[in-house]
Amino acid sequence: MSDAAMTLTVVGCSGSTSGPDSPASSYLLQAPWQGRTYTVLLDCGPGAFGQLSRYVPPEQIDAVALSHLHPDHCLDLCAFSVAARYSPTAPWEPVDLWAPPHALERLGRAYDPMAGDDATDLGTVFTAHTWEPHQQLGPFTVTAARVAHPAPCWATRFETGGRSLVYSGDTGPSPALVDLARGADLLLCEAAFTDPAPGGEPNPPGLHLTGREAGRAAADAGVGRLVVTHVPPWHRPDEAARAAASAFDGPVEVATSGARWTL
Ligand SMILES: [Zn+2]
Ligand SMILES: [Zn+2]
Repeated sequence: MSDAAMTLTVVGCSGSTSGPDSPASSYLLQAPWQGRTYTVLLDCGPGAFGQLSRYVPPEQIDAVALSHLHPDHCLDLCAFSVAARYSPTAPWEPVDLWAPPHALERLGRAYDPMAGDDATDLGTVFTAHTWEPHQQLGPFTVTAARVAHPAPCWATRFETGGRSLVYSGDTGPSPALVDLARGADLLLCEAAFTDPAPGGEPNPPGLHLTGREAGRAAADAGVGRLVVTHVPPWHRPDEAARAAASAFDGPVEVATSGARWTL
């Protein structure tokens, strides 16, 4: 990679499910470290594992970070586990996994239909760590904060080389997200909801952001740029971005599978 402090690559950005144009949520964060490139896989939703090798050999991933354990953010770690155990390059070195509590049990249940089988123990594939407020992943200083979502979910701030990127995970409007994102160079923020129609049912609280709410979070945090993501296949990403731009004066862009930002 170039002299950049870090690179964000969108593996998948389709919200809530995989979509016709993209896998579900999955991103790569890369930064120089000890004479090579350090790679974090940030979420691994359905369809992500297959496209990952377009960008990096999966066995070279240094760490996996999961915002939360909803299926659209973690289920392709089952595919990762199959490759780590049975592909021609197997067995892979165990990879550090930062995640909510009980991640290995949750992935084990998804991995094997015969609960209790030895194959459900993914401890040989992943070394699990539960999110703490602060941790170091290679070159990245990572701050994690609980946000507003029914499944326990952590937004994360990655800092290296004087640059910073914040990923919202899934969240409704959240002061913790704004605090975490303050002054970040880039906010990668979900925008799964649309504004309710006038007089219509309000969106359920504590679940997702509208584009406008993502824009407001970006404005309140004073970030350099906003990238909206996690738009489900039944909504339009360009409309999410337009709604975000109505609340945020800075640059607003849409995540697409394969898009890359260099900070
Ligand atoms: Zn989601
Ligand atoms: Zn979720």
